Amino acid sequence: MQGSGRPPGPTEAPRRVRYGFVIDQTRCIGCHACTVACKEENGVPLGAFRTWVKYVEKGEYPHTRRHFAVLRCNHCDNAPCVTICPTVALYRRPDGIVDFDGRRCIGCKSCLQACPYDALYIDPDTHTAAKCHFCAHRVEKGLEPACVIVCPERAILAGDLDDPASEVAQVIAREPVTVRKPEQGTRPKLFYVGADHATLVPQLAETRGAHLWGQRPGEILSLARMATGWKTNGPAPATPKAAEALGQVAYDAPHEERPWGWRVSAYLWTKSIAAGAALVAALGTLWGWPEAGGRRLPLLALVFVLLTSVLLVVDLKRPDRFLYVLSKGNPRSWLVWGAWILMAFGAVTALWILVAAGGGGRVLPLLAVPWLALALGAAGYSAFLFAQAEGRDFWQSPLVLPHLLAASVVAGCAVAHLAYGPAQAVRGFLVLGLGVHLFLILAERFVHHPNLDALMAARLLTGGAWRGRFWGGVVVLGTLLPALLVLTGSAVLGGLGSLLALGGLYVYEDLWVRAGQAVPLS
Ligand code: SF4
Repeated sequence: MQGSGRPPGPTEAPRRVRYGFVIDQTRCIGCHACTVACKEENGVPLGAFRTWVKYVEKGEYPHTRRHFAVLRCNHCDNAPCVTICPTVALYRRPDGIVDFDGRRCIGCKSCLQACPYDALYIDPDTHTAAKCHFCAHRVEKGLEPACVIVCPERAILAGDLDDPASEVAQVIAREPVTVRKPEQGTRPKLFYVGADHATLVPQLAETRGAHLWGQRPGEILSLARMATGWKTNGPAPATPKAAEALGQVAYDAPHEERPWGWRVSAYLWTKSIAAGAALVAALGTLWGWPEAGGRRLPLLALVFVLLTSVLLVVDLKRPDRFLYVLSKGNPRSWLVWGAWILMAFGAVTALWILVAAGGGGRVLPLLAVPWLALALGAAGYSAFLFAQAEGRDFWQSPLVLPHLLAASVVAGCAVAHLAYGPAQAVRGFLVLGLGVHLFLILAERFVHHPNLDALMAARLLTGGAWRGRFWGGVVVLGTLLPALLVLTGSAVLGGLGSLLALGGLYVYEDLWVRAGQAVPLS
């Protein structure tokens, strides 16, 4: 490896290296040789990229200029993809390279959500995640990464950042350098010299329908346009002039459109119903509610927790490996904790049904306490999982946990109303839950958001392409009308209101999952 300095003396302990890249955009000519060499070296399939060159054009004819940025994994010192990966398929090596082991990957796509830099993709051949791995196989033989070797301008340098004699360390000491999204706290180890911000910050460049050698899908395009049209202080449609000042993307590589789709929305919804049914049954048992000893709610909880598990497994790109979450689990990943919580919740739910069927009514109040705790855990753990998806700023909101708990109260009371009719306590809690749910979803729109990405996602939800579904489907039909219908006290109208409330919850979960992934990462 170039510039790695002198070897340790006989009495010195071997010094740890910390590999990183420096990319000098003032030298880059946008030839894509690095992309091609990487594909050739690592067998990257058609349509996937471990490194790519983004073109952004600025100015007005004839005073225009094209800027380049070579984008890839930043080999972060504090890599969120490593933290969230449930099977330790992604890991940080002692030499600072963030590597991956495709043999452990279950294709959950959580790393794609955690990386703020769009660095990962799902390999269409193996159905596992992949990314730049610093050509670790070459580095181990003392060779440089393929992109470094091939670059005709020596724009890409790789080396030990901690060795003051290495070329990368010297360039960083000498030149003003920048990194992508330093505010994410990932401590990236890819330093840019002379990069135009419009190439590194997606909101500073307008995306057009067609660019060199490619097109962007319509939905992605409209979301990207909405994103570039908003400033921090409110929505302001981008005018052609404003777009010129910002820059236009002239070339970019394709990225996964929306790694988590309807199955993840449905998983949140079925989990709310399972946890909510258990919450109502367990609390009802503790409070002496007569119907709480019935079988319907525990059975519903069991059916919906099984559905939740099925949705989670079928959403994996490698469902055949789903047991790796348990056998090769990463204790730092909330995906692993979630799997254990759901299993324990399902087991206690089944036990509850067996005890109730066996006439052990006196044992149920004792079982109600752990069942309640597991139901709360099942309802709320996803807040911590989504928080580990650090690339998605909208999901970092402190309102996610209270929202998930409120959603399970609404779902539980709605299914209890459908199962047992309009009991007063159920009606009261359903209306209260709907009120809290409405307050929280509106708060998401009006509270202060810590950065532009989170603000844009919130505005997409309530004022963008999905505003009809949000205001009509979630607020009016899914929250206000159900509350009114339930308040009538009628079994039929209350039942209809409960169905509408469940429908409104699903629509909201789906919009929330979509909005979080709508803002472009690169
Ligand atoms: Fe690379 Fe992204 Fe992981 Fe950072 S978070 S190490 S950029 S894949």
